[in-house]
Amino acid sequence: MKLVVAVKLVTSPKVSEALRDELRGCNDAATWVSAVAFEHFGLKVREGALRKLVYARLREERRIKSAAAQQLIKKVVDAYTALRGNIRAGNLGGDQSKRRRKAASKPIVFRPDAAQPYDCRNMGWDIDGRSVAITTRQGRLKGVPFVCSPEQARTLSSCRKGEADLLFRDGAWYLHATCEVPEGTLNDVPLGFIGVDLGVENVATTSTGYRAAGRHLNRHRRRQQYLRTKLQKKGTKAAKRLLKKRRRQEARRAKDLNHCISKTIVTEAERTGQGISLEDLTGILGRVRLRKPQRVTLHSWSFHQLGEFIVYKARLAGVPVVYVNPAYTSQMCADCGHTDKRNRVDQGLFICRGCGVVAHADRNASRNIAAKGTVAWDAGRQSSVPAPVLSDGGQDAARNLTASERRSRKLGASIPRS
Ligand SMILES: [Zn+2]
Repeated sequence: MKLVVAVKLVTSPKVSEALRDELRGCNDAATWVSAVAFEHFGLKVREGALRKLVYARLREERRIKSAAAQQLIKKVVDAYTALRGNIRAGNLGGDQSKRRRKAASKPIVFRPDAAQPYDCRNMGWDIDGRSVAITTRQGRLKGVPFVCSPEQARTLSSCRKGEADLLFRDGAWYLHATCEVPEGTLNDVPLGFIGVDLGVENVATTSTGYRAAGRHLNRHRRRQQYLRTKLQKKGTKAAKRLLKKRRRQEARRAKDLNHCISKTIVTEAERTGQGISLEDLTGILGRVRLRKPQRVTLHSWSFHQLGEFIVYKARLAGVPVVYVNPAYTSQMCADCGHTDKRNRVDQGLFICRGCGVVAHADRNASRNIAAKGTVAWDAGRQSSVPAPVLSDGGQDAARNLTASERRSRKLGASIPRS
């Protein structure tokens, strides 16, 4: 299974300058190559023919090193392949759609700070010494230190395969290295399933009694929401900068929490020999009806990311995962099966009108999800979710992109807007 390990580079001003020059140079060149490609081939770009057209000029006029030149030609070809795929799949609308015609009528452009892929020809790793060497337009930068956790270092040295992307984010340089990590042997005789209920008051509640976050997190989010509104009203340049910073802090915080929750759930499932039963999330926003202030909290929580994290950690641990239809899981009594809307007295309280049992509403729902999981597993409906490629962008995950789309987006390909 593919996993992306992100490490941060420790750069001196001189190295930072060289990297900036390299990245900008490569992306300007990619935009130029894209224009040449579009002029000659339209959307059906042929890699070999394109290379003949641009390679020499990339080397001489733009001082791009040979490996980087090859990489960026490939990056352009991949971007057109992805665009053709999107058009064919109808992601940009039908034949007559404005968006689709616009996308097909202009060459793809690349952001100046978009990620650039490197491979063994122009990047060398010394994982024990925690440094890399990168070939740039200004020569080879040797011994650039990076920082990572011991666990990341282990993954890097045993599973690193193929390319790494160089990118600049929030004022720092990062390498995203692709690793091919072996999956755990699937436990195909699970001793039951842990049901996971996702909600507003409690982000995740399991049938085994684990409850994630809840009040203090929501309080924090409400405060953030309040500050955000205040800053938005102000509308000055400084306020906008602060907003952007806060948005990223928020995303990092949510991502971190999602990592913790998913790890706790998967570890427990592994330890107790159980599988995990998740709600099929595709309908969650349409299904839940809430008062307005809560709607903000729910929409801004990345449940999709949490689901992705659970699935990939489960695959590594060999824990089976099933998705179940969440219909009626919050109205049905987990003890007697009596289903009634009025069973759920309020957000947190469940009182069965059939047998009179009193339970925490989320806990009751998670037990139903667990039971549905067992039924689904016994019926042979093992999760058919494709292996997620874990990217750093929580927002991307929420937008439901495919792995290749996400990658091409990260590499900076964007369809011109006007
Ligand atoms: Zn009951």
